[in-house]
Amino acid sequence: MAVHKFPIMEIFGPTIQGEGEYVGLPTVFIRLAGCDSRCALCDTPESIHASNAKEFLTAKEIAKRAEVLTIGGAVKHFVITGGNPAVHEHAGEICKELRKLYPADRDVWIHVETQGTFFTPWIAEEADCIVVSPKGPGMQDEHYGPHKPENVVQFVNRVLQVHRHKEVIIKPVYTGTHDLPYLKGLIKAMQGIKNPHGNWLELVISLGDNIPNVGECPNPGEYKELVNQLMEEPVIIAAANRILPQVHKCLGIA
Ligand code: SF4
Repeated sequence: MAVHKFPIMEIFGPTIQGEGEYVGLPTVFIRLAGCDSRCALCDTPESIHASNAKEFLTAKEIAKRAEVLTIGGAVKHFVITGGNPAVHEHAGEICKELRKLYPADRDVWIHVETQGTFFTPWIAEEADCIVVSPKGPGMQDEHYGPHKPENVVQFVNRVLQVHRHKEVIIKPVYTGTHDLPYLKGLIKAMQGIKNPHGNWLELVISLGDNIPNVGECPNPGEYKELVNQLMEEPVIIAAANRILPQVHKCLGIA
């Protein structure tokens, strides 16, 4: 069997999940390099090109590194992020190796974060939770432009076909009023989502802060302004399960 190596930017933790539905959950992060988007406001621009990877490791080696960070297995939550992990066809092997660290499948919880531009079967088959984070105009993706809502829905529908008893979280970033029409279009398009297995499906809006570097503390007034803008939008208020800042940036942690 071929041995695959994956471009690693960093494996770090334990820390807390800083954004989305599971803010605050103790987590070990695995960041893969390589992304098909080119967002001007990317907060991990060094992870866009796989050639920037610090090292190339097999799934077994990645799991071994991650295991050391779990405090003897106390941390059971992993996030595989990027870049866009979906561009790595065989990265499901990492999920399989992480599961082997625990006595039972139910003891480990693996989230995969992707912008949803690229479907690979392993994402639907191996992840416990898939966080789809489409980029609106505010993120200035120079490759795709604003990610078309119908493509996001298509991606989610493909995931939900094979993704049983698990979760899908749609997590667009809101960076200002220029993103409002996009958000509303996304919410409208989400009516086309087919969820045949009744999986957990949520819309979580992540407040962007226009500060590109992880670890820099944003201006609280900026977040407040973003919240105030959204609170004037009944369509968005009705659809969003959560509207959250990027807590790791508020705390100044990775
Ligand atoms: S999709 Fe994410 S990792 Fe890729 S360029 Fe955009 S912000 Fe950066």
